[in-house]
Amino acid sequence: MKKYLLPVVALLPALAAEARSPRPSRAQLQEQTIEAQAEADSLRRLSNVQSVAIDSLQSLLDNMQEQLEARTARTAAPTVEVDPEQAEADSIANLQLRLRRKQIESTFDTEGLTILDTLNSGNDALHVILYGNNTWKYVRNRAVARDSTIFEKYWDTTSLFPYRDVDIAAMPQSVVIDLIDSTKSYHYPYKGAVNPRGKYGPRRGRRHQGVDLPLKMGEPVYATFCGRVRISQYVSGYGNLIIIRHDNGLETYYGHLSERLVKPGDWVEAGHVIGKGGSTGRSTGPHLHFETRYYGQAFDPERLIDFQNGMLCRETFLLKKSFFSIYSNAGQDFEDEIANEEQDKKEEAEKAAMRYHKIRSGDTLGALAIKYGTTVSNICRLNGIKSTTILRIGRTLRVR
Ligand SMILES: [Zn+2]
Repeated sequence: MKKYLLPVVALLPALAAEARSPRPSRAQLQEQTIEAQAEADSLRRLSNVQSVAIDSLQSLLDNMQEQLEARTARTAAPTVEVDPEQAEADSIANLQLRLRRKQIESTFDTEGLTILDTLNSGNDALHVILYGNNTWKYVRNRAVARDSTIFEKYWDTTSLFPYRDVDIAAMPQSVVIDLIDSTKSYHYPYKGAVNPRGKYGPRRGRRHQGVDLPLKMGEPVYATFCGRVRISQYVSGYGNLIIIRHDNGLETYYGHLSERLVKPGDWVEAGHVIGKGGSTGRSTGPHLHFETRYYGQAFDPERLIDFQNGMLCRETFLLKKSFFSIYSNAGQDFEDEIANEEQDKKEEAEKAAMRYHKIRSGDTLGALAIKYGTTVSNICRLNGIKSTTILRIGRTLRVR
């Protein structure tokens, strides 16, 4: 048994060395924590005695925490000289790095997984949860998160738009919003292509304030980030709607669900199944209507998520006021959505009705028109030819 613990012990001097090196970053330490976690995971698999591995993991976490505290104490010490200009340049460079476009995968879905244990991370706001499939996750301590004013101010579990007193004009031109970090994770709400007609933006003079993601009835819809459910109700237009407020102030909307699986006040982690796909409200076919809003102002969710591959596009988002160009409220015009879907169906039907004919010896446009129940001028229009065009044998003509 003991030999499985050796790699963990062997890792500790390396961590101590890291603590002595000049100005090691918190990110480096966190990366090592992750490595150590992976190490502990494999140990646990090897040993098959989970409790022993969990103990060693806990002692490792305790050790990391001590080092973090030591680091904090050192940083606070007046003997450490920091060039303010350099510090500012560093923090700007760091922010630019976080704002850069990248591909961030979903965290695993915890649905159906057994929780083996919850460990204290040493930080009150944070827990480490070990799952039955040998994976682990940082989870925010709900009791701590609940104290955040984000979940008190403008908090309303019945009204979709509780932000009437917010002066949007007074908002800064841009806001830096942290989407994920080592404690906050991400999961796609639904993985699939955005309906080309269901993109965010103006359509026929109206405004579509989210994206439409076609799905099959009953497919799981996931919480995008951790947060607290503000709205879970049937709303005309949206149908079964869930709104989750996240601790960075963003809200995500999930509309047209066939089932709602969470209620107002519930805490959810990224990847929790919050509802099932459906077609309730003003919708003519199963799809998820997904919105992202900040203080009630909608902006294009495709700025954050690449729905086709399910990836988050950045760690930190620079939300510019120009992204919500007009002052919107929670009202959503679903007439448009219906018109779009009807147009889609019409085009699909047209596509399905298309017929082609390969020219054989003796074919004439007149004969083809009769054969396919159409007219010569229609065939000419569909193929961009004239009635006098000579039909080349082997050429394919669209006849319907
Ligand atoms: Zn929609």
